Amino acid sequence: MAAACGRAPHAGGVEVHTSSWRTYLNRGSLPFWGMHVTAAIGVAALGFSWTGLALALALYPIRMFFVTAGYHRYFSHRTFKTSRVGQAVLAFLTQTTMQRGVLWWAATHRHHHKMSDEPGDIHSPRQRGFWYSHVGWNTAPSSNDRTARECRDLTKYPELVAIDRAKHLPGILFAAVLFLVGGAHALVWGFFVSTVILWHGTFTINSLSHVFGRRRYATTDDSRNNWFLALITLGEGWHNNHHYYQSSCRQGFYWWEIDLTYYALRALAWVGLVWDVREPPRHIRDAVASPAPAAPAAPPAPVAPLA
Ligand SMILES: [Zn+2]
Ligand SMILES: [Zn+2]
Repeated sequence: MAAACGRAPHAGGVEVHTSSWRTYLNRGSLPFWGMHVTAAIGVAALGFSWTGLALALALYPIRMFFVTAGYHRYFSHRTFKTSRVGQAVLAFLTQTTMQRGVLWWAATHRHHHKMSDEPGDIHSPRQRGFWYSHVGWNTAPSSNDRTARECRDLTKYPELVAIDRAKHLPGILFAAVLFLVGGAHALVWGFFVSTVILWHGTFTINSLSHVFGRRRYATTDDSRNNWFLALITLGEGWHNNHHYYQSSCRQGFYWWEIDLTYYALRALAWVGLVWDVREPPRHIRDAVASPAPAAPAAPPAPVAPLA
């Protein structure tokens, strides 16, 4: 779907974006907000449940693993290898997390690295403000501008293209399994609540990881290393490390930088399901002896209303 709002004509070769309530609330964003509303109504209707909360929390790290190992470290950056069957299975399981197709995700994310915090970056807090970098980029019609065609290295696999096109099917099947096994209770907590928490956990890397934390490497963007975000995203919070050296699967560069996705991939490598799990070369990792200065702090862009 072509962008229908939130974008102004090109100015000096740079696309100028403006936000309005329609950036956040439009026909395309209804499923996104619908998941939030259904989660809230479901919890209200069924009542708070410790077992439900435990189910959502237990599923969170498993599903986050597929976000970081699948969408990010494999399909966006190709930082480890697996078999052709393995990558198709990974694509399917990754899309149970309901963050659209793996090829769309990879195209969008590669664009972020190309334009990091410069005009044109799809989700930069510096350019568009906090709420836009957190959810607005995803609800705006312009989120559909990136297409699978931009990932030629992945579109050569027809099975990946097919899975990418069926973007919500794996998630719907996951929801159906939960319902069949645990009824409405499992569906509400294991799918709706779990998915909404997972979304916002993932989005902290687009928003908070470019605002709060330390900068070890003087990258040209605002990326930060943040131990708390690294814990809740299974290692993605070492975002300054990642922007500095994107081809490393390991994002916690030192032993004290906890990177649970990397540890899990190491375990999968040990049993032979994945291989060539890439690490940062020592001379690159240790290239900076002292902390890099923060990028010039830009005043946050105006916060757009949600509705
Ligand atoms: Zn990345
Ligand atoms: Zn980033």
